[in-house]
Amino acid sequence: MQQTFRASSLVPRGFVVDEATSDAAGTLITLRSAATASACPGCGSPSGRVHSRYRRHLADLPISGRPVRLVVLARQIHCDAVLCGRRIFTERFDPDVLAPWARRTARLEHIVHHLGLTLGGRPAAGFAHRLMVPASRDTLLRAVRRRGSPRFVPPTVVGIDDWAWRRNQRYGTLICDLERRRTIALLPDREPATAQAWLSEQPQIAIVARDRGGGYALATAKALPEGTQVADRWHLMENASRAFLDAVRKSMRQARAAIGAATIDPTLLTAAERIQYEGYLRREEDNTAILGLAKEGAAIKEIVRRTGYSRGLVRKILRGQRSDIFRVRESSLELYLPWLDAQWAEGSATARRCGGV
Ligand SMILES: [Zn+2]
Repeated sequence: MQQTFRASSLVPRGFVVDEATSDAAGTLITLRSAATASACPGCGSPSGRVHSRYRRHLADLPISGRPVRLVVLARQIHCDAVLCGRRIFTERFDPDVLAPWARRTARLEHIVHHLGLTLGGRPAAGFAHRLMVPASRDTLLRAVRRRGSPRFVPPTVVGIDDWAWRRNQRYGTLICDLERRRTIALLPDREPATAQAWLSEQPQIAIVARDRGGGYALATAKALPEGTQVADRWHLMENASRAFLDAVRKSMRQARAAIGAATIDPTLLTAAERIQYEGYLRREEDNTAILGLAKEGAAIKEIVRRTGYSRGLVRKILRGQRSDIFRVRESSLELYLPWLDAQWAEGSATARRCGGV
């Protein structure tokens, strides 16, 4: 069955189109409610006895990349309920379609809210302009604020940590409701006193997950002496991995020595490796010279004067902290090097003559 296109299918549900005109600036659609009666906001009784009509101007979603203005011929209606204090009320619509006093249809408001939420005021305003969605920066921010944050539920299990306004410069404090998995507070700094003040307002909190530093521990202990403090998983993992890396770094020299150094053939090194290798040889040479001088009885001061190296470096070398093992990066060819060498020695210098490996 073929469906015919009706202008009413373009406008929000519950409205019928009286007239639609279009020019280069956009589309203007005049419409009115499809319902004959509307419920009085004072007493809830429906009435359709019209007192007067007025024109309500609204913005709606663009059509074919052009802005759309709606003009609703809305009614003022008498309330005939005997006990109702209201004599006349303005016609109400389904709030999911058009909220009272709104200047935008709910479907446009929805887009505006999401743009504001995702991009913030100024970038969202630029993008909205491209989308032919009429909304200023302030409108976008108002839409975000109007929907607001969800109702505050006093938390019992919270996580507290710092976050960066600007990394390495300015930090704030972030508090999450761990049961609802939601951020519930952003404090302007990470001072224990600030956190303490916030936590004291929430005496029902039973568990605080925190970092392993002293600041938040102190704040929690003061604000919630009965509360249980736990180290959060992220900080435990972070501390453990840092300790592990420290341990590995300390025994790196022994580890390298245990792996052992292959005999280096400088002619087989890449250009970059050769530069590293030459640096390594120079360091080894200096190490030997400095250790030699020390063996002859020269004091550190004397060695510094004769070699021109810093006191710190000389001391490091004398403690054996600068001897290293030179290793080239491991290559997938390494396993086959003896075989390749043998082939080369026999005079097979092309891949085809060598056959498949
Ligand atoms: Zn009423």
